Amino acid sequence: EEAAREGVFWRVAEADQSQLERQVTLMGELDDALTSGAIEVHYQPKLLLSENRIVSVEALVRWRHPERGFIGPDAFIPLAEQTDRIGPLTVHVLETAMHDQVRWRLLGHDVTIAVNVSARLVASADFEQDVRAILRKDVGDPSRIIFEVTESATLTDPEAAVAALHRYRALGIGISMDDYGTGQSTLSYLRQLPLAELKIDRSFVQFSHRNRNDGLMVRSTIDLAHSLGLKVVAEGIEEEACLAFLRELGCDYAQGYHISRPLRAEALVQLLSARSNL
Ligand code: C2E
Ligand code: CA
Ligand code: CA
Ligand code: CA
Repeated sequence: EEAAREGVFWRVAEADQSQLERQVTLMGELDDALTSGAIEVHYQPKLLLSENRIVSVEALVRWRHPERGFIGPDAFIPLAEQTDRIGPLTVHVLETAMHDQVRWRLLGHDVTIAVNVSARLVASADFEQDVRAILRKDVGDPSRIIFEVTESATLTDPEAAVAALHRYRALGIGISMDDYGTGQSTLSYLRQLPLAELKIDRSFVQFSHRNRNDGLMVRSTIDLAHSLGLKVVAEGIEEEACLAFLRELGCDYAQGYHISRPLRAEALVQLLSARSNL
């Protein structure tokens, strides 16, 4: 029995070891990927409900891995965060987004782009320096950039995070509270943040048209946000009935597979052109 238990122990240890090795390999590859163009930025439209137009998008990172195909962010963002690669990665996303934004503007499409900024980057002085440098050299328009941050970003070191967000706001960047409803933010706390927008998490939105409690939660969040002067985005809309429900509640923006999956830059341009020709 002892031997069997040891056997199990070693097998587990080996599994951990090989997983660790895989992660180390992956991180080495990520460094290369960042310079080789294998890290792609895709864009998911947000529909402005009052005008039925796509005026903004969320930048979502994808890794085109030579052997493994597309790797989604959930498989490498946490690792990038743990190994200090999240800064360079986010800088890459922001630079790519601002270049695409300029290209789209030349084609006649003014698009606001939201970039996800991890909790641990919000109060990072290095990241802030990089952002300022990008804004200095780029022709992009900071007032058409949004940083999506989660509540946890502002809870680890509240004072530093709140101060940093105010400085980003002063640069012209919009701040959006992502995944709203999954944390424990209070109203009085949210008021300290220079927010332009609140994104209601998919877990509340997805079935809000069918589930009474979810529906009530979404309704009261929209009312609360509006009373604070914030725009509301509902994410994870997968059905027409859900879209109709949110329209009825006065939600400002809708995002989800029912409107569009995240698209490569070229496909997004095609969609924008097709819609503006309607
Ligand atoms: P998120 O910020 O909540 O982004 C929304 C996620 O929901 C995206 O997954 C998107 O593809 C997916 N989604 C959109 N509409 C629907 C829908 O109708 N139904 C369902 N089931 N899913 C939908 P994705 O691209 O896999 O991103 C996952 C998470 O990875 C993001 O969650 C975000 O937290 C993180 N992430 C993505 N790109 C970046 C980045 O550049 N930097 C950082 N720090 N995090 C990123
Ligand atoms: Ca987001
Ligand atoms: Ca989200
Ligand atoms: Ca989410």
